[in-house]
Amino acid sequence: MLVIDEVSAMQRHAEEARREGRRVVLVPTMGALHEGHLALIEHAGEEGDRVFVSIFVNPTQFAPGEDYEHYPRRLVEDVETLKAQGVAGAVFAPTVEEMYPAGAEEQRVWLTVEGLDEHLCGRYRPGHFRGVLTVVMKLFAACRPHAAVFGLKDAQQFVIIRRMVEDLRLGIDIIGVPTVREADGLARSSRNKYLSKEERGQAVVLSEAVEAARTRILEGELQVEALIEAMRQRLSQAPLAEVQYAEVVDARRLEPIEKLEPGQEVLCAVAVFFGETRLIDNAFVHVPADL
Ligand code: AMP
Repeated sequence: MLVIDEVSAMQRHAEEARREGRRVVLVPTMGALHEGHLALIEHAGEEGDRVFVSIFVNPTQFAPGEDYEHYPRRLVEDVETLKAQGVAGAVFAPTVEEMYPAGAEEQRVWLTVEGLDEHLCGRYRPGHFRGVLTVVMKLFAACRPHAAVFGLKDAQQFVIIRRMVEDLRLGIDIIGVPTVREADGLARSSRNKYLSKEERGQAVVLSEAVEAARTRILEGELQVEALIEAMRQRLSQAPLAEVQYAEVVDARRLEPIEKLEPGQEVLCAVAVFFGETRLIDNAFVHVPADL
């Protein structure tokens, strides 16, 4: 497995794979790899025959005061993990200087999205999705993939990236993989390791809240107020949890709704702080058409 840290070398390597007729699949990550990432990579291996994993902690998607400085970085272990898994053909692990040649602060060209970043996480993380879209575009330019795999855990990110690819006609297939969870339901995340034992015990309320909303929808509840109340009720059972949002939005437009339409696809999503640690969870749900 190759480890490549230069954009130009990555581009040459990707071009070679494409010339050989390979279907190139990219899995972008920020490293500190866990089972969630490995599921994405496994899926990428089924989707194509040349898998690239990028590992890059992107400074421009962290808002001031967020955990950029402290975000776990363990490239050596990650490379070992990827070798042991045996799916990735190459790891692209550039430096910040390589990705932002003028410096992250001096970047002048940005990709932004209108509307889709106004709700859910976008509302509370100014500039986050601008940073994500810009770096994903840079990663696409470096790795030249036919397809890219993202986790549905970051549902808003998935919807926004898919929209970027549609609007810009990039011709890259965007594939979403369901959230990988701990035994009790907590979504796997590199940030889970920040949790104290007590917080970790209570963090199960995120998945329970989302599940409560899903169950209510499948039972026929159409009033969003009642769904939000059900989610908040579950979240309130964790005394250490401070709720940032609990929302139900349209799955494509990401706009809040008041009443669900039969047949509509919606996204139920929560974000919760345990101390400094921010956790999210969500579920795409199809409202039964025959209500
Ligand atoms: P990150 O390293 O946190 O930026 O995540 C890299 C990719 O892995 C993103 O597409 C995430 O949505 C995805 N991912 C992170 N955690 C999970 C999980 N528990 N299940 C599925 N995908 C995940």
